[in-house]
Amino acid sequence: MGYSYDENNIFAKILRGEIPNKTVLETAHSLAFEDISPAAPVHVLIIPKGPYVSVDHFADEATDEEIIDYTRAIGEVCKITGVQPSSGGTGFRSIANTGSDAIQEVPHFHTHIIGGRNLGRMISQA
Ligand code: 5GP
Repeated sequence: MGYSYDENNIFAKILRGEIPNKTVLETAHSLAFEDISPAAPVHVLIIPKGPYVSVDHFADEATDEEIIDYTRAIGEVCKITGVQPSSGGTGFRSIANTGSDAIQEVPHFHTHIIGGRNLGRMISQA
């Protein structure tokens, strides 16, 4: 079936400057901004600027430069938000929901960095 990117998804509009965002970090290939509906005191989304629908799409087709930039951006966001255990933070969860089983709402690859409180167990058993 392949990957099909919707140019009208909400994060594409944020990247084009059509919708405002609270930017945490911008790099050559990535943008990090606060989630509009935070699930915890820290809730930042990191997106690549390129048109990738999901983490597997990004892994398959992004350039090495984009992948390095994106991975470093995640590390930087962990530092900026203070959640990084190696810098005195108390930890965080990084999540990349993909497709219908994971209830991915926005079809532009993003990693959630969520922290600032105890987050409980990862997945409910229900
Ligand atoms: P998903 O379910 O796709 O992994 O997560 C999408 C996330 O995007 C949700 O946590 C939701 O709150 C966030 N979101 C949706 N629309 C907007 C928006 O317009 N601005 C921001 N900053 N976040 C959004």
